Amino acid sequence: MKELSNDLLEELVTECRPYSREGQVVKDIPGQRTIDQNKLGVCIINMDNEVFSAGDTDMKFSLQSASKIISLMMALDDFGKEEVFQNVGMEPMGDFYNSISHLEAHDVTKPFNPMVNAGAIAVAAMIKGKDVDEKFNRVLKTLRKIMNNNSIKLNDEVYESEQLKGDRNRSLAFFMKSTGAIAHDIDETLDLYFRINSIDVHTTDLAKLGVFFANGSRSLKTGEQIIPMDHINTIEAIMMTSGMYNEAGKYAVDVGFPVKSGVSGCIIGSVPGRYGIGIIGPSINEKGNSTAGGALLHRISRNLELNVFSVIRKDKE
Ligand code: GLU
Repeated sequence: MKELSNDLLEELVTECRPYSREGQVVKDIPGQRTIDQNKLGVCIINMDNEVFSAGDTDMKFSLQSASKIISLMMALDDFGKEEVFQNVGMEPMGDFYNSISHLEAHDVTKPFNPMVNAGAIAVAAMIKGKDVDEKFNRVLKTLRKIMNNNSIKLNDEVYESEQLKGDRNRSLAFFMKSTGAIAHDIDETLDLYFRINSIDVHTTDLAKLGVFFANGSRSLKTGEQIIPMDHINTIEAIMMTSGMYNEAGKYAVDVGFPVKSGVSGCIIGSVPGRYGIGIIGPSINEKGNSTAGGALLHRISRNLELNVFSVIRKDKE
């Protein structure tokens, strides 16, 4: 096992950058049209709150689907596990994240899981607040607290473009309304969903969220239990089975800890009891995952021996 250091991360970033050529940047996300496809950055925070980083960590990016774990956290905190999973399933889907056919073919009463678009929209419908502004401000406030960063905010241009190109998500939402899977106001629910997708962060912010999960949803700084630990266990299990679109199985095998990606090329990882990881590599494959970021995650897991299944066995030796 290697020791975590900035030098090790530098070495791995250099090794993984060429994988960017195997994917493409999503050009219709504002700010990404002219981005250098070879960008790659990583930040890792350990349980002593020590920060390690390498590569393009100064790059800002929108959360996109990485926000799905945040919506789930809010909904679980607002309603509890039982009620949330009456409205959304917890099974892996094995198809594209914005699939419509599964909504009709599988179970019209609820979408597959909170990590696919239909599921995340159903989850957004459960976040409490008197109107969309209040709901979104609650999400922002919680994130700012966990990430210890008051500058976390909405990227207006990304939000506008999410609304403009959001017809597929509207279709999912209206279909769910027609079957009764969503009973809430659809326009408001979609507005909230688009906003949460459009929050800008850096890799450090993702690593802070990851280490917060890794620490059982207690603040590393104050020890405060911000969200009940049971909710985080639930989210991490769902990240493990469905967090990387229809490559989740491969990541569970090769990386072996909970991860969630977004089409901006970000990946958040949480190694229970050990690390929070934030990665950005904007070039993504046809499944929606960062090519260089994925390669980097594999190497980080291997070098630091982070696969949770082998850790359990090592403890017994
Ligand atoms: N904003 C995108 C959508 O809702 C997110 C896609 C993603 O990151 O998977 O379709």
